[in-house]
Amino acid sequence: MHELAITESILNIAKKAAAEHGVTRVKEIRIKLGEYSGIMTQCVQYYFDVISRGTVAEGAVLKMERLPIIMRCNQCSWEGVIDKHHIQCPACSSVSLKLLQGREFYVESLEVDQE
Ligand SMILES: [Zn+2]
Repeated sequence: MHELAITESILNIAKKAAAEHGVTRVKEIRIKLGEYSGIMTQCVQYYFDVISRGTVAEGAVLKMERLPIIMRCNQCSWEGVIDKHHIQCPACSSVSLKLLQGREFYVESLEVDQE
C-alpha cells in the first residue's frame, strides 16, 4: 500500500466529518492499523503534517493503535494471535492458515473542537 494515498484518505475522512459536524479544528485522529497491513506509520504522520497544512486538520496528531494478526488454522481449527515473522500454526505446525484480522486500516474516531 502507498502511504501517501492512505494519508490523503485519512485527511479526506477528517475534512468530510468536520464539514458535516461544524468542527473548527481536528485535534486528534484515532486509527486502527493491522500488523499485517504493511503500512509505515512514521510516513503517514509525516505526510499528514505536510498535506494537512491550511486545513481544519492542520497539526492533528494521528494515534495509531495496532491490531495483532489473528489467524485460524485450516488443519486443526486453532485460532489465535500469530507473529508476522513466523506464520505457522502453534498447535499442529501447519502453514495453511486463514487471516481473520490484521489487514485493517480505518479511522476509528476524531477528537475535535466544535462551534
Ligand atoms: Zn493447526
